[in-house]
Amino acid sequence: MLLASSKHAFAGLVSQTGKRCFSVSKLYASQATSFAVNGERLWNDIHHTAKWSGPSPGGVTRLCADENDKMVRDWFRDQVLALGAEYKVNATGTQFAKIDGTDNSLPPIAMGSHFDTVATGGKFDGALGVLCALEVLRSFKEQNIKTRAPLVAINWTNEEGSRFFPPLGSSTVYAGQSTIEAAHASTSNDGSPLTMGSELTRIGYVGDGPNTFEEFPISAHFEVHVEQSTDLEKAGKSIGWVQGWEGMTWYEAVFHGQNGHANTYPMHGRRDTLQGAAKFMTSLETLAYHMGGRSTVTSLQSGPIGSCNIQSKTKVVFCVMHKDGDSLLKMGEQAQQSAKAVSALHNLEHDWKRTLHLLPGDFTPEAVDCVARACGDKGIGSRTLTGHDSLSTLLKAPTAMVFVRSKDGISHAPEEWSDKEDCADGASALGKSVLNFDDYLEHQSK
Ligand SMILES: [Zn+2]
Repeated sequence: MLLASSKHAFAGLVSQTGKRCFSVSKLYASQATSFAVNGERLWNDIHHTAKWSGPSPGGVTRLCADENDKMVRDWFRDQVLALGAEYKVNATGTQFAKIDGTDNSLPPIAMGSHFDTVATGGKFDGALGVLCALEVLRSFKEQNIKTRAPLVAINWTNEEGSRFFPPLGSSTVYAGQSTIEAAHASTSNDGSPLTMGSELTRIGYVGDGPNTFEEFPISAHFEVHVEQSTDLEKAGKSIGWVQGWEGMTWYEAVFHGQNGHANTYPMHGRRDTLQGAAKFMTSLETLAYHMGGRSTVTSLQSGPIGSCNIQSKTKVVFCVMHKDGDSLLKMGEQAQQSAKAVSALHNLEHDWKRTLHLLPGDFTPEAVDCVARACGDKGIGSRTLTGHDSLSTLLKAPTAMVFVRSKDGISHAPEEWSDKEDCADGASALGKSVLNFDDYLEHQSK
């Protein structure tokens, strides 16, 4: 699965650009100084697309490849076709909308994020990034701004991993960390036999567009996202440039015990996996406090289903997070020790799997610099506490992100909120970042 570190990522950057890194902070794209988007139109788009949702008062439930995901995708396709974009869908459902530059021999500068949400999602996580990309394309066209490199707006498939595991389902294929076959085989978290491939086929979103960086190289990737934390709010800033991310690892622990009658089986000698899992889960919380990191159990499945069964099989899916790579690994080791201890205590067996691992790291300095200059006085530097498609693209191309202030840092909840003006600032910063990077490419080629 996705395995990255800043060292790993920069190895990719150097081989991609083949040029020595240098600071570009003295360069300014002249068009970037005055560029602004239509904030009213962006705000309308946010609320318009939020209607494609399952029942979710005030929020959005748009799971990967469900009916609402199809509807928002169809809408996005229509919008970009109306702009004259070259439009493609790839085998894992990702949508690409490319607009010509003045030198189409250059790989396009990408702006991407995701329309899928978690089951209890809000209006902004993911959708804001795709809609900001669309708004930049529209505003550039209206304001007659032409970049040298082509541009591409991207809606990545299954960023959340909420319906089908693992997350970053298409961008990891793009970055060579997974395959189309593996992404299609992503299984449903609700235990149903549906896969991401079968559901993408059902909604008509398995296309023949480019799947990998090698098939469709990009010059850079920029992503607007809500912060999902409170650094910007505390600083009184509407936007921020994202310098890097904290480390995170997902694990699956499956405990195996023995079936038995819930009423009649003696207490002594039971091999009850749910009791073992309960102790294990409590230990994960203690571990996070002890290590100064975070841990979350994200899924719990136990069986057999019924009212009178000792639970003979329990699966615990959880993640651990830490800003320090060694501490992150240590948290994983200690969690495994804990699984062994509860297995011994309850006479259980267990399987242990690390399903996704991401060491902490930094985005590309040149790209971050383009975003920092785009934010100017409105922004501060920040770090993301979770994964995004940009972590995949970073393995192949210079990548940076624009954060937009989140009210109270709430995310993955219907209460998720960012103000209209903040969203517009985020989109304007995205456009300026792209212009700055286009300028950077031109200076680099001289
Ligand atoms: Zn997101």
